[in-house]
Amino acid sequence: MSDTEELLKIIESFRKKNHYHVEEDTWYSCPAHPEYSGNDPHNCLCGLLEHNLKVDKALQIVRGLTKRAPDKGQAAVVKDNQAIAPCG
Ligand SMILES: [Zn+2]
Repeated sequence: MSDTEELLKIIESFRKKNHYHVEEDTWYSCPAHPEYSGNDPHNCLCGLLEHNLKVDKALQIVRGLTKRAPDKGQAAVVKDNQAIAPCG
């Protein structure tokens, strides 16, 4: 697995799959959770959607960097690290 593929997998693992849920009292769950029992409209209030949009953006950025990298299969992020001159 290339560094890029590994980085994409790591970022993907940050994706939230479930809305906030309080099993003991579903009134306090996110209104978008299927077991929510409150009166609010079913809009997400737990931040899952915004969080996953950030994950999508991070994946998009890494894929964009990889496309621009001149060497096939080598991520631009790796190249950036190599560009830093060692101390001394
Ligand atoms: Zn939510």
